[in-house]
Parts: sequence; C-alpha cells; structure tokens
Amino acid sequence: MQSEEFVTNSAEETTQLGRRIAARLSVPALVLLKGDLGAGKTTLTKGIIAGLGTAEEEEVTSPTFTLIHVFQRPGAQPMKVYHADLYRIEGPQGLDSLGLDDILSEPCILIVEWSERLTLRSDWPIVRIELEHLGGDRRTIRVTGLEAFAAGSNPASQAAAQNAK
Ligand code: ADP
Ligand code: MG
Repeated sequence: MQSEEFVTNSAEETTQLGRRIAARLSVPALVLLKGDLGAGKTTLTKGIIAGLGTAEEEEVTSPTFTLIHVFQRPGAQPMKVYHADLYRIEGPQGLDSLGLDDILSEPCILIVEWSERLTLRSDWPIVRIELEHLGGDRRTIRVTGLEAFAAGSNPASQAAAQNAK
C-alpha cells in the first residue's frame, strides 16, 4: 500500500493538500483521520470537501456537537459527502445512534475525525490519514491508501516519497 508523508507549514497548505487528496478520491470511500485536538483534521477536511465540489471551505465546520454533517453535490454527477467527528461518542450505543450503517448503504464519501473510535465493517476503499503537530504551524500528514498518490505532487508542501509497501 502506497504511503506518503507531507509537511505543511500553515492551515492554508493543509487545505490545499486536502484539495489534492480530493482529486484522487472516488466514490465510495472511507477517509479515516487520526490526530490530536488541533492537529488539523477539520482543516484538512475543509480542503477535501471543497475539492470534491460539495461545499465552500468556510461552510465546513467541526461537527463536534452535531457529530455528523452532510454535504451534497447536485447536478449531473451528484455526490454525498459525510463529515463525522467521533470525539464525543460514548461507547457502541453512541456509535449506533449515528446511523453509519444507513449512510453506508448508498455510495458516498465518509470522512471521519477520531476514527480510532470507529467500529465498522465495510469493504469500501479506505484512505487513512494521520496528522501530527510538529510545533508552531508545522504538521506532518501521512496518507495511506490513495492510489497513485504521486510523490512531489504537492508543491505547497515538502513531499517526501515514503515506504511503498
Ligand atoms: P482538529 O480538527 O484536528 O482538532 P483543527 O483543524 O480544528 O484541528 O484545528 C487546527 C488549528 O491549527 C486551526 O486553528 C488551524 O488554523 C491551525 N493550524 C496552524 N497550522 C496548521 C497546519 N499546518 N495545518 C492545519 N492547521 C493548522
Ligand atoms: Mg476537528
């Protein structure tokens, strides 16, 4: 599985990376984000959702309390994108109440913050993204599972080709 690591130096660089990731996503897909509070999961998601053409960056806000937001792209190529945040989920019952099974009953893109709290069986392609603070505005963003995610394709960050497994 192809794994790539990026370093971004600002929130803008992270949303830009999100747009590049979006360009490589196809429906259906699970995008599983991991990283501490403030690591940049929501910021990256803004770029992904804007890049998919389902909302403007500023329309994408943290679903911390609502737990899940849905964005739709109408028109000839409709698409549904769900953005979930499991930070406040309590136990399996909390997860059940989200209705993820229903969401996954039709092809869509499901982006999940705090995805380590997810217990879900799905045969959809999975893109795993881990974000880490490097201090200040620097973040490491490791992306696994995006096919043909060419090294150096993100001029806004210092891309380093990583262990192709
Ligand atoms: P999370 O969803 O992981 O809790 P957020 O995306 O909500 O994190 O918050 C990240 C915060 O860090 C935002 O205030 C953002 O402006 C700031 N920030 C600074 N540098 C970066 C960067 N390189 N990438 C992402 N966010 C950054
Ligand atoms: Mg968040």
